[in-house]
Amino acid sequence: AIPLVIAISTAKSARAGILVKDRLALERMRQVDTVLFDKTGTLTKGRPAVSGTAAAPGRTEEEVLALAGAAESDSEHPLAKAIVRAAGERGPVPRAEGFRSETGRGVHATVGGTEVSVGGPGMLADRGLSEPAALAQATRDWRSAGATVLHVIADGAVAGALALADEVRPESAEAVRDLHARGVRVAMVTGDARNVADAVASRLGVDEVFAEVRPDDKDSVVRDLQGRGHAVAMVGDGVNDAPALARADVGVAIGAGTDVAIESAGVVLASDDPRGVLSVRTLSEASYRKMV
Ligand code: ADP
Ligand code: MG
Repeated sequence: AIPLVIAISTAKSARAGILVKDRLALERMRQVDTVLFDKTGTLTKGRPAVSGTAAAPGRTEEEVLALAGAAESDSEHPLAKAIVRAAGERGPVPRAEGFRSETGRGVHATVGGTEVSVGGPGMLADRGLSEPAALAQATRDWRSAGATVLHVIADGAVAGALALADEVRPESAEAVRDLHARGVRVAMVTGDARNVADAVASRLGVDEVFAEVRPDDKDSVVRDLQGRGHAVAMVGDGVNDAPALARADVGVAIGAGTDVAIESAGVVLASDDPRGVLSVRTLSEASYRKMV
């Protein structure tokens, strides 16, 4: 039989937009001392826009954007959608073939006979490429402004770079502040570059930042925190968050999350408001206080 407290809290949780998939996860939530947030799509809107383009010598910015737009056409990633949108606004986007995506790295495709790759710092490193000097000033400026920098590689050489800026959710700062007020530490994990991560973290007052984390390693971040004696709630939205959501003491998937994230979480928030984590905590305290 379901204890009465649980039955009541389930009705209450439904009204608060909290779907409890695993009652033990809800019970553990009140003991959590660290909340680890995914950045992109969780603390930020995950709807970035292209905020800058730069071309290497011998290329034009239009060309760089068109090649990138073509290569990203078949990607579901928010960065890809922003690039395709921006490329379409500037002119016709050529067709691409042989699309291949590398989770947390970038994409590859053939565009009019040219091998094109678009990706972050990890992809440049993997290919043993370094940034042409002509792009350095632009990418440095973009990075210090907290933008995500991607490089466009064509036929094995860096053709240019793009800046993508994502907006921090207006509710994120309050979510962090309220967790702090309850004595909970706040950490953030992201596959994104260190500079972007630090810019977001310092705006929000996040205590600990894990940046440039490969998708497969997000769950090792959870394991490390647990190894240091912390009880961890992980909050995320993406496919790449699923193993970390499953590993955490409490996995919380946010509203607009992917199916895989939702499947791996013990608790699902109906909305994509990060303050929902605090509601889960409150619900956990209210539901289990009397039962110990
Ligand atoms: P997060 O962990 O913050 O949700 P992701 O793991 O989805 O971010 O992506 C991490 C990094 O991988 C991005 O910042 C980018 O450098 C690169 N990346 C991922 N997908 C793409 C793509 N479709 N095109 C270009 N770069 C990508
Ligand atoms: Mg994400």
